[in-house]
Amino acid sequence: MTNLTDLTMAQALKGLDNKEFTSEQLTQEHIDACIAARPLNAFITETHELAMEQAKASDERRAKGNAGTLDGVPIAMKDLFCTKGVRTTAASKILENFVPEYESTVSQNLLDAGTVSLGKVNLDQFAMGSANTTSAFGNVISPWKANDGANVDLVPGGSSGGSAAAVAARIAMASTGTDTGGSIRQPAAFCGITGIKPTYGRCSRWGVVAFASSLDQAGSFGRTVEDSALLLQSMAGFDPKDSTSANIAVPDFTSGLTGDMTGLKIGIPKEYRIDGMPVEIIKLWDDGIAMAKDAGAEIVEVSLPHTKYALPTYYVIAPAEASSNLARYDGVRYGLRVEGEDLNDTYSKTRAAGFGDEVIRRIMIGTYALSSGYYDAYYIKAQKVRRLIANDFTNAFKHCDALLTPTAPSAAFAIGENEDDPVKMYLNDVFTIPASMAGLPGMSVPAGLNAQGLPLGLQIIGRPWDEETVLRVGHSIERSANFTAKPQLIGKMAA
Ligand code: GLN
Repeated sequence: MTNLTDLTMAQALKGLDNKEFTSEQLTQEHIDACIAARPLNAFITETHELAMEQAKASDERRAKGNAGTLDGVPIAMKDLFCTKGVRTTAASKILENFVPEYESTVSQNLLDAGTVSLGKVNLDQFAMGSANTTSAFGNVISPWKANDGANVDLVPGGSSGGSAAAVAARIAMASTGTDTGGSIRQPAAFCGITGIKPTYGRCSRWGVVAFASSLDQAGSFGRTVEDSALLLQSMAGFDPKDSTSANIAVPDFTSGLTGDMTGLKIGIPKEYRIDGMPVEIIKLWDDGIAMAKDAGAEIVEVSLPHTKYALPTYYVIAPAEASSNLARYDGVRYGLRVEGEDLNDTYSKTRAAGFGDEVIRRIMIGTYALSSGYYDAYYIKAQKVRRLIANDFTNAFKHCDALLTPTAPSAAFAIGENEDDPVKMYLNDVFTIPASMAGLPGMSVPAGLNAQGLPLGLQIIGRPWDEETVLRVGHSIERSANFTAKPQLIGKMAA
């Protein structure tokens, strides 16, 4: 029998339906791969026993003919989704021993669909980062190696680095992520897989550890566009427990996966041709434009004039909201508590011990931006610019159905690189943040390799609630790019 870990999730579901193998077999193979790949540090908490119980129950459901839509497929859960009875850390020390009493809506939806959970995957602390190096549980190592013979460990991207590495390394068939400014799309690009962040409000934020509430959105990773679409289908939906969850019907995300783009207008935003963009990224983008044309799309140039303000605006709004959201970790209500001489001292000792440097940096920036003398100058101003960024997209979508851009300005870099220069690290998200600011759906698909043999991704951005077109375009690009490269450190080989 072939390696079950090599199947896509869609193929595995067919195999389960046709009784070619059981969920117990499928899950066991993934657990073996997970154990062999421990050096990648993709997981914070493994739940293998629970996974085998879930797999057994899934096989029983299938035998009785009442299997759910994703019944029996092993997936990985970003450790930002609260899972009842299973430790949820947000990759922080402050929540190191936090065991939620409740299940997030998204993870509950996936349990209801019959998925098997292999455990909680590593991320940047509180989802703040682009390289998975801010985790209190150590960085994740990308399963990819450059072909330059240097044998340097690379970052998987971030913040959903564990989610992306686990899928790329064939440990999990698919995984959940969250994306505030690029945390699904950039790691998908770095790891050579697909990832989609849907429209803000499509997936419930209830039970997801909050970073920046007006931007946070859950989404999915898969090795193929179809797998990402399938997982998202089961995650999405209205939830009255989240006040920003949208009461809008969820369409069939796989309906448009035909490979064809006839009749679609694809916009190329001219402001994304930033100065100093590496030649390999320009080439990737040009190749993507050619693929879209060949698949029947009409290419139009569009303008998003406020693009250059997106990154600075994000780094006011996201830290501001983070500083407010993270005020709850005070040593009283959740997680870590370090006793001090009085209550204030307990607060500061707990927070100093519980938060990492990047989180502290953001809390300080955010508190400053929200302080009474600066609120109007920074936070209110940033909100106004955010509106202009959103208006740019509304105008662009009068002329096209989706936008095509590179996902990130580079391929994966070495662990440790960019570490002492936060602004350089922040630049990773220069292409993903604008769509986040406007709440738009965006996805990354692997579209080529650079000269070092590392994956590069193209981003597709769509109109609000139009994930179908995003997925349709993504699928078509995926087909044309025919990305078949595999990371070097797969499953057992990762040891
Ligand atoms: N890299 C960005 C940040 O650090 C985005 C992170 C995210 O999307 N969660 O804020």
